[in-house]
Amino acid sequence: MSIRILLVVLFCAVKPCDAQLEPGTDEIEYAVAIHGGAGSAPRAVEWKTARERLLAQALQRGVEVLRKNGSSLDAVEEVIRLLEDSPRFNAGKGAVFNADGNHELDASIMDGQSKKCGAVGGVKTVKNPISLARRVMNDTRHILLVTDGADRFAADSSQDPRIELVTNDYFSTEYQRQRLLKARSSARSRNVDLIGTVGCVALDRHGNLAAGTSTGGLVNKKFGRVGDSPIIGAGTYADNQTCAVSATGIGEDFIRSAVAFDVSARMKYQKQSLEDAIKTVLGQETPPVRGGLIGVSAEGKIVMSFNTPAMARAAADSAGKWIVDVGPAEDD
Ligand code: ASP
Repeated sequence: MSIRILLVVLFCAVKPCDAQLEPGTDEIEYAVAIHGGAGSAPRAVEWKTARERLLAQALQRGVEVLRKNGSSLDAVEEVIRLLEDSPRFNAGKGAVFNADGNHELDASIMDGQSKKCGAVGGVKTVKNPISLARRVMNDTRHILLVTDGADRFAADSSQDPRIELVTNDYFSTEYQRQRLLKARSSARSRNVDLIGTVGCVALDRHGNLAAGTSTGGLVNKKFGRVGDSPIIGAGTYADNQTCAVSATGIGEDFIRSAVAFDVSARMKYQKQSLEDAIKTVLGQETPPVRGGLIGVSAEGKIVMSFNTPAMARAAADSAGKWIVDVGPAEDD
């Protein structure tokens, strides 16, 4: 037996799992899931179709990054940027109006390997808040920058082509203006339809998890209100030992119960599966958590769950999973 064959035999004896990793096994090499907000199902077929198309495009973008050995952080940022640029979601262009008739945007991103994270709250001039959140993570010793400070940080980052500045009316759409008017005149204005916040979770081929969330918040929200999306542990969380999670729904509920961290903690300390952890959290009556969650475990298992009538969502993995679903449409 040559020395080379002997070495191969010895290596396989020490690392049998790697030796058995052939294509076609159930091992998930990469996985990505996206949400486009929890709430009521889109009423018009045109909206349903447009959102489905955009989610499919975003999913494709995420898969391309991961398939080419890109990082889960890159996949999350790319997917969310694409959805922020679309007027069909409540993030970036198309964000809701606050009670003052302006837009204040929140976003966060987290790396499950290093536990590094970055977030921005109440930004008014940043086209892609998710990229600013990533910049906070990479280029500062802080985690969360808010309002004028965050906008100033963006202005100081002009050398970064991913940080583009816009005027506040860039985010405005007629659709959201009508929703503001409806919310102002409605007794239910605290609970109007949510739909539209975006989030992404991913597992890459290097075994690293990442999560991110971006939103304009709640329609008709008070000036200065910050929701769960930029709060690490509430709207976003990632830990390579457990899972990556992104939330959508009534932000105050998710902050109160530190929902994203709770999902991870249940897996870590109670050894719950991702599915059980998410179901338990969303099923709790007191305090209630109204909305939905997407998560991916360290093994690549994807869970997308909600207790609202609908949640726009999409998922794909290296084993061939491909799901895009925004819920039923009722034409007016
Ligand atoms: N969670 C977001 C917030 O409260 C809203 C949403 O998910 O639609 O700001």
